[in-house]
Amino acid sequence: MDKLFIDAAKTIIGSKRCIALTGAGISAESGIPTFRSKGGLWNSYDPTVYASIDTFMIDPSKYWSIRGDFIRNYNDYSPNQGHLVLARLEKAGLLKCIITQNIDGLHKKAGSEKVLEIHGSLREIFCMSCGREYIAPDIPPGEVPLCACGGVLKPNTVLFGEGLPPAVLTEAEEYAGTCDVMILIGTSAIVYPAAYLPVTAKKNSAIIIEINLENSFKDSDIIIEEKSGIALPEIEAKMKKL
Ligand code: NAD
Repeated sequence: MDKLFIDAAKTIIGSKRCIALTGAGISAESGIPTFRSKGGLWNSYDPTVYASIDTFMIDPSKYWSIRGDFIRNYNDYSPNQGHLVLARLEKAGLLKCIITQNIDGLHKKAGSEKVLEIHGSLREIFCMSCGREYIAPDIPPGEVPLCACGGVLKPNTVLFGEGLPPAVLTEAEEYAGTCDVMILIGTSAIVYPAAYLPVTAKKNSAIIIEINLENSFKDSDIIIEEKSGIALPEIEAKMKKL
């Protein structure tokens, strides 16, 4: 494992345009369950029922009922060592951008500035009727939250059946197509279009460093099977010694 940390450290230091693509795994150590790995939310709930826009439009109580098992309130969670290392790499000029599938806002809370949240964020919640926006409201459990106008509130996140925000996705594709190193962290890399991004990077001859409990992307060059909250500080420590 030590050699892999050194290889990753050398690769990042030697890069010209290193970016990160993150998924639910990087936030697991902040206490937020993943969707697909062991103990993941989709082992208990069918996403096509509980997280689809079609169901939400007919019966939003399904979506809101599982909130207690996922992210109770945006304000309840803090970044872990993995998020913090990425923020420091950006400040040191070694990481140009984070593309994240996560909706928890933890990269921004950690201090990262260039963050493309391609699935949106739970920070903003808006009214489906009048469009009024609420920032990180605390929502009482067990009920569908309503706007002052009586309309149903929905987080500004992408549910199954919804398109991704086009401008953010285009920017993410540009970064993926022009990076020379991509650090792929805590994603099962099977949700499209995000899953195309490492493929795009690889087509451009980028080196893929994957950090995951188990290898998920078949073309990764350096595979570190470890928790990101452990692996990223180890890599950072090696970088300081180079
Ligand atoms: P996923 O649930 O499909 O896969 C999680 C991956 O993380 C797995 O490959 C697993 O092996 C790995 N993993 C688990 N714990 C880890 C750890 N400590 N360190 C490193 N890797 C670890 O997640 P995904 O690929 O991001 O799925 C995509 C969808 O899940 C996205 O749409 C995203 O919005 C949503 N999601 C977001 C959050 C969040 O915002 N925190 C949480 C769950 C799911």
